[in-house]
Amino acid sequence: MYHHDPETLVHSTIAATNIAEGEEITITCEYSYPHIIPPTLLTYFTDIDLLEPREKRLELLQVWGFSCTCPQCKLSNHANLASEARVAKIGRYQNMLADWSSSSGGTPEMAEELMKLYEKEKLWSAIGTGHMYAALAWNAAASVADGYGKEGGVGEKEKRAVWHARRSVEIGTLASGAVENNRKEMSQLAEKPREHWSWGLRA
Ligand SMILES: [Zn+2]
Repeated sequence: MYHHDPETLVHSTIAATNIAEGEEITITCEYSYPHIIPPTLLTYFTDIDLLEPREKRLELLQVWGFSCTCPQCKLSNHANLASEARVAKIGRYQNMLADWSSSSGGTPEMAEELMKLYEKEKLWSAIGTGHMYAALAWNAAASVADGYGKEGGVGEKEKRAVWHARRSVEIGTLASGAVENNRKEMSQLAEKPREHWSWGLRA
């Protein structure tokens, strides 16, 4: 994840995974500060969402004046289809996990599958969003009874909820427009999981 502060011109980069010595670090060509772009230029700086299919990403990239030759954009058609199917699954899982109705199919197991898909797709810049869904799913499955007899009265599900919430805060989330709210919410969950609205909601 990278963040550029237009006021101080400070650029910060946060690694969401281990980086080997000499390993190339790539960024997504996205413009994160629409408020400082004149409205007339806005349409030229469209965000490139890594969850969009390749065709769409490459089309959006045209305004930057080059075509991408990164390994992801250069996948064979077969591999690209498999990758896009996994990305589509990320979207479906997230929709289910965001459904808090009683008929929701969202479970912690699904959230862990979601994390695996993010990792498989190396979607490191968006994985904070996955951690957010995982934190909520684990917290929703947690109960006070889980912690009986455990150190500090904290059960496994609560521990996992807190761990994912912390990772989400560290890495940040890309959910458009809601980044700051998500960060606050995940800090609160990591701090006091039992006081968070999601606690025990699906237990
Ligand atoms: Zn690319």
